[in-house]
Amino acid sequence: MKTSQIRSAFLEFFRSKGHTIVPSSSLVPSNDPTLLFTNSGMVQFKNVFLGSEKLKFVRAADVQRCLRAGGKHNDLDSVGYTARHHTFFEMLGNWSFGDYFKREAIAWAWEFLTGVLKLEKDRLWVTVYHTDDEAYAIWNEEIGVPAARIVRIGDNKGAPFASDNFWQMADTGPCGPCTEIFYDHGADIAGGPPGSPDEDGDRYIEIWNLVFMQFDRAADGTLTPLPAPCVDTGMGLERLAAVLQHVHSNYEIDLFQRLIGEAARLTHTGDLENKSLRVIADHIRACAFLIVDGVLPSNEGRGYVLRRIIRRALRHGWMLGQKRPFFHAMVPVLVEVMGDAYVELTEKRELVESALRKEEERFGETLENGMRLLESALKEDTQYVGTASSSSRVVPGKIAFTLYDTYGFPVDLTADIARERGWTVDMAGFEAEMGQQRERARSASQFDSKATLPAELASALPPTNFLGYEMLDADGVEVLA
Ligand code: ATP
Ligand code: MG
Ligand code: MG
Ligand code: MG
Repeated sequence: MKTSQIRSAFLEFFRSKGHTIVPSSSLVPSNDPTLLFTNSGMVQFKNVFLGSEKLKFVRAADVQRCLRAGGKHNDLDSVGYTARHHTFFEMLGNWSFGDYFKREAIAWAWEFLTGVLKLEKDRLWVTVYHTDDEAYAIWNEEIGVPAARIVRIGDNKGAPFASDNFWQMADTGPCGPCTEIFYDHGADIAGGPPGSPDEDGDRYIEIWNLVFMQFDRAADGTLTPLPAPCVDTGMGLERLAAVLQHVHSNYEIDLFQRLIGEAARLTHTGDLENKSLRVIADHIRACAFLIVDGVLPSNEGRGYVLRRIIRRALRHGWMLGQKRPFFHAMVPVLVEVMGDAYVELTEKRELVESALRKEEERFGETLENGMRLLESALKEDTQYVGTASSSSRVVPGKIAFTLYDTYGFPVDLTADIARERGWTVDMAGFEAEMGQQRERARSASQFDSKATLPAELASALPPTNFLGYEMLDADGVEVLA
């Protein structure tokens, strides 16, 4: 089944269960200034769950474009390392706004996966929240999933990579237990079942998360049952496509194969398994859709996330030996594979191409020299670092700062390159350099502008934004001697 057919099959199934099909909202949330990006399907319904917005329907389904590359959800560092993580991905979702609850949500998920898509039942595992006996009983007694494949999962607060089966929108407000559905890709792949110590492997892959919003959490932590509980589900389209296309990794599905093939062509790479091709294929989707949704490369906020992703992609192209602009040339194939599902992509295609091209030309001027500096630092080892505690395989903060300030290397790009060689970056040292830079900019701006203004006018001025990087990286002037 092709990715495009899975989208339609999902929507058709939930339409037949009385759901209203709604369009995907933008990657830039319109209802929440505190949220960097739309990172799940529920974002556009947040105010419905909070009770401040009413819709004409109580059941909805959609395919939502999502980005997890900044803020609370950040999978950027997993891209190229796991089989299942992207920055940009599509989430299939169905919702009940005070209408159906656990029984129907679970039964329909099972019917869609095993009845419509015909997944092998024995390969599906489920998790429930450890105290959610109701969900456990539905899975076990009504659906017939054997106890051996149902795992009770706790909060695991803070434990890296551990499953967390209690969902909350924020510190207060709607929250509740989850149940998740996993697919076992087979014994030849490393990784343990959900809840086990090696669950972060890629053998058992989480495909669908069903959240049951049933409590309202007060500031003191007490949970009050909601008068009308809601359901919020999300399933990764690419992960489901991998299962249906009998491949293990998301990067092997039809849509990605087309993008990877194009990246290989544009970078003259023969080995289609090359990790850099996967990263480029992932990043072109994120970057193109961010631009479609009104974000342009800049030095702060969302624009800086975009710039960071573009520059990472360019560095991967550079590693493959492609030193000329190529990234924007991925756009036609992207439009070919995703333009039908997202008309806005087709409409804004030229803008996307030109914005990417501009950024490519800009970074192309400093990438080569920055790489040279970094390469020498990665050889020097202890030389730049004075303290005993950070004596080996650490890129000094001062180098990371020069790369950032002079060569336009976002620090996470430097860290990513370092990580490939088993090195880390002295982040504290980098932050210290940044602090000094800000201090210098502040005193310079006070001297330049505010000093000549009357005191009451000067204090009314907004703080001056640091623009040094923006101005310097274009012409490559080195500020640090
Ligand atoms: P994981 O534990 O694998 O990181 P998650 O629990 O963080 O996934 P959810 O927040 O539950 O994911 O999102 C709902 C669904 O969206 C997941 O079950 C998965 O199918 C999909 N999904 C989540 N993150 C990604 C991603 N970075 N790339 C692709 N699909 C994703
Ligand atoms: Mg995750
Ligand atoms: Mg998970
Ligand atoms: Mg989950």
